Amino acid sequence: MADQLLPLAERMSQIKPSPTLAVNAKAKAMKAEGADILNFSVGEPDFPTPEHVCEAGIQAINERFTRYTAVPGIPELREAIVQRFKEDHGWEYAPEQAQVSCGGKHGLYNIAQALFGPGDEVLIPTPYWVSYPPIILLAGATPVLVPLEEKDDFDLTAENLAKYATSKTKGIILNSPSNPTGAVFSTTALQAVASMAKDNGWVVISDDIYDTIVYGDEPLPHILDVDPGLKEQTIILNGVSKSFAMTGWRIGYSLGPQHIITAMNKIQSQSTSNSSSVAQKAALAAVAGPQDFPAMMKESFVPRLDYILKELTSMEGITCVKPNGAFYVFPNMSAYFGRSYDGKTIEGSVDMSAYLLEKSFMATVPGAAFGADDFVRFSFAASMEEIQEGMKRLRKALEQLS
Ligand SMILES: *Cc1c(COP(=O)(O)O)cnc(C)c1O
Repeated sequence: MADQLLPLAERMSQIKPSPTLAVNAKAKAMKAEGADILNFSVGEPDFPTPEHVCEAGIQAINERFTRYTAVPGIPELREAIVQRFKEDHGWEYAPEQAQVSCGGKHGLYNIAQALFGPGDEVLIPTPYWVSYPPIILLAGATPVLVPLEEKDDFDLTAENLAKYATSKTKGIILNSPSNPTGAVFSTTALQAVASMAKDNGWVVISDDIYDTIVYGDEPLPHILDVDPGLKEQTIILNGVSKSFAMTGWRIGYSLGPQHIITAMNKIQSQSTSNSSSVAQKAALAAVAGPQDFPAMMKESFVPRLDYILKELTSMEGITCVKPNGAFYVFPNMSAYFGRSYDGKTIEGSVDMSAYLLEKSFMATVPGAAFGADDFVRFSFAASMEEIQEGMKRLRKALEQLS
């Protein structure tokens, strides 16, 4: 036994660590060694958490608000969350229908554990956020990838939904605006989802984490606006990570039918107990306080998006769907697959990202991490100077491929 490793659980063969966090770690390590790294791999705003939010956290510590809280979150935060939803969308929820979790990611984990198990299939429009398939797999259920096409601007269609739905389908995860594509689902797409969800009793998980970062004048279409009758089958997933630049505080929240939230609270009570007491007070200041920060941040992304998109689409062979939200562009770089450098051939997005990191010192995330190997994700939550320098390096790197 001494020279043999103890065996891990069977489920460990099904999942890998988050690839976006892995690229970020490698880029940070290279930077620590002195390399002039431009980091376009990060999935977080480049703003600090707003002052009033930090102050609320500091005050919570000073007041020794440092003990366990109620499992679903402190009542005043749940109250503020449902109040915000009512103000922003007109949707009515009771505070008991809200659960505060350790980030949006753990909210989704609670949802999956409460709803899905062996034999269940969950539809995941693809490109997807990296954590959707593993979270479904960890629940013992089967992720079913529904490919979205670049030519459709990554919108869902009734046809591709119908192609992948089966009698085992139990739910679908919507993410609009999307990480990684920045695409926003059209009203038509959401109508198709609503109608199939109604006919077949699916649960709709609406990951709205980027709903404050929407470009253009059109309001963001939402499944509950498209069909308010779907409320008893819908779970809203959101949080303050992106809207208030609070990724490190780990506060997300879910809203949904009472019996599902109650089940999620059971899971949470036996796993994390509650999210950080201090972070909940900070999140309360974010959710209940002035809402100008998300709007300001969104405005600051507009010129960066315009610039990076113009640069990318002016490069030979690259196509890129214009994002309608979030802070990512997802160019198709497959025209360069098959080309080489230093005797190595770039076979796909993983090789492309490795090439850009090794030779141009720019960190990106390969599309393969999102189930779409023709693409590479660039976050434009970076300074304009970094984006300008990055586009220069990218142009040069692509020209040097033979
Ligand atoms: C960032 C993100 C989340 C939530 O992240 P947390 O840091 O766990 O709050 C959820 N969904 C998507 C698509 C994201 O990009």
